[in-house]
Amino acid sequence: MFNIILFGPPGSGKGTQSEKLIFKYELKHLSTGDLLRSEIASQTELGLEAKKFMNKGELVPDEVVIGMISSALENNPHSKGFLFDGFPRTEAQAAALDQLLKFKQTEIGVVLALQVCEEELIKRLLNRGLTSGRPDDNNGEVVKARIIEYHKKTSAVADYYRRFDKVVEVPGEGTVDEIFESLCAEIAKRKP
Ligand code: ADP
Repeated sequence: MFNIILFGPPGSGKGTQSEKLIFKYELKHLSTGDLLRSEIASQTELGLEAKKFMNKGELVPDEVVIGMISSALENNPHSKGFLFDGFPRTEAQAAALDQLLKFKQTEIGVVLALQVCEEELIKRLLNRGLTSGRPDDNNGEVVKARIIEYHKKTSAVADYYRRFDKVVEVPGEGTVDEIFESLCAEIAKRKP
């Protein structure tokens, strides 16, 4: 099993690159953002609670997302590996993920960290807001709040994995295919 974390600030291209990576490496895509939006669409209790945080650009409480990931891992016992997208977003989530993977006798193979400058992130997010229908994308204040949350809580996740020498920084600007090639080259160096 080879498990990847695709890491980076909001708007860094995690969703786009995830689609290509899961196809090439036959991984199960676990995006907490997508899982939460599907809970909102189904109007579950969890979704209604999560929506309050998401619409403000704040992180949803750790126990909520950890619970979702734990069930997703349980529900995919035969996967060749997982691609985590938008998770973990706090150190507590990273520690919980390590524990969950340990139970499955596996671990994170690599953390691919997409590098994109702030100006470009804001541009991409507002642009996506024109068509995505995501309420957290078309409001400049919410976009800024998400980037602040990233610096305050999520960037520490990279430091956590740096301790285990698992982080590789990859340029997130350029064409979709160029970025994909860089990601694949890094995976090739680490994947058994
Ligand atoms: P983006 O990476 O563009 O911000 P996501 O779809 O990954 O988009 O996340 C959208 C929102 O969902 C976040 O702003 C946050 O409120 C919530 N969310 C997603 N993943 C997590 C997580 N792992 N922990 C806490 N909140 C999360």
